[in-house]
Amino acid sequence: MEKMKGLVKVKPEPGAELLHDLPVPEVKGDEILVKVKCAAICGTDLHIYDWTPYAQQRVKPPMVFGHEFSGEVVEVGPEVKKFRVGDRVAGETHIACGMCFQCETGNAHICESMKIIGVHTEGCFADYIKIPAGCGWKLADSVSYEVGALLEPLGVAVHSVLADAVNGMSVVIYGCGPIGLMAVNVASACGATRVIAVEPVAEKLAIAKKMGATHTLQPGKDDVIAGILDLTGGRGADVIVELSGNVQAISECFRGLRKGGRVTLAGLPNGPVTLDLVDGVIYKEAKILGVTGRRMYDTWWQIEALLGAGKLNLEPVIGGIFPLERYQEAFAALHAGRPGKMLLTI
Ligand SMILES: [Zn+2]
Ligand SMILES: [Zn+2]
Repeated sequence: MEKMKGLVKVKPEPGAELLHDLPVPEVKGDEILVKVKCAAICGTDLHIYDWTPYAQQRVKPPMVFGHEFSGEVVEVGPEVKKFRVGDRVAGETHIACGMCFQCETGNAHICESMKIIGVHTEGCFADYIKIPAGCGWKLADSVSYEVGALLEPLGVAVHSVLADAVNGMSVVIYGCGPIGLMAVNVASACGATRVIAVEPVAEKLAIAKKMGATHTLQPGKDDVIAGILDLTGGRGADVIVELSGNVQAISECFRGLRKGGRVTLAGLPNGPVTLDLVDGVIYKEAKILGVTGRRMYDTWWQIEALLGAGKLNLEPVIGGIFPLERYQEAFAALHAGRPGKMLLTI
């Protein structure tokens, strides 16, 4: 049987091992086999690598992890109609059941029995990954494999920013991790008149500027709320997209929102958050939208349209590109807080 290399969470402890004698997955039914070309390291992968309580509750070693990827279809199961060998694809991470209330009412991205690639099934930090054909997204010829590996997290940015209107509006993005940076780019591309990036790390704000931020505010140095009010005629921002997951930022951001404005919450706090509901939400008639993942497949069509029209510039979000063999350097860069997305070529 053909063997492949892959980055494996071998034991329930920190770290991972690159193994070279893994079996190449066998496809059947409606599955496709993808030769992975490029993969991106997500916050979830860092949890798995570091073996945090979040990972301990979800992952069962040994398994290949990783879920953000692009590659080429090299084999299709007998029931596959959507793809042919040679197609270039990116992967949707969520495997929806297709049968529950949410799936049947157009909300497959919050399926009641969701499985996640690289968490519940074998992941993409390997030569090959097997996925249901329904999780493949065909890449346009103009999209590189590097950008292809960014589409899954880009989808979270698109879903968060475009959960309601932004055109002609002031938009504040809290948090300039990779998804926050891409959210800045999407808001700018989609006609926001002001895009205000809020982030404590100066280097990340510099990237946000390259990606379309018209203004930046640095907590710890700037008075963020005063800054937002100042930039919005004292009214507050029309839209706030919270992608930092920082408990204090979530609690505070409502003070920078205008009456009747919209807050999208997509960053994950690591505990309960206190909100001033009276002045922050109720008297303001604030609209709060929780957002997770990508709408399947509305968000992917929006990504296709934005990329196809040349509206996005994702290059600045790439923080480093490493061959899979040098995975330790990529994880070390993340541990060191290096800005941007770390990619692995395979
Ligand atoms: Zn991810
Ligand atoms: Zn379902």
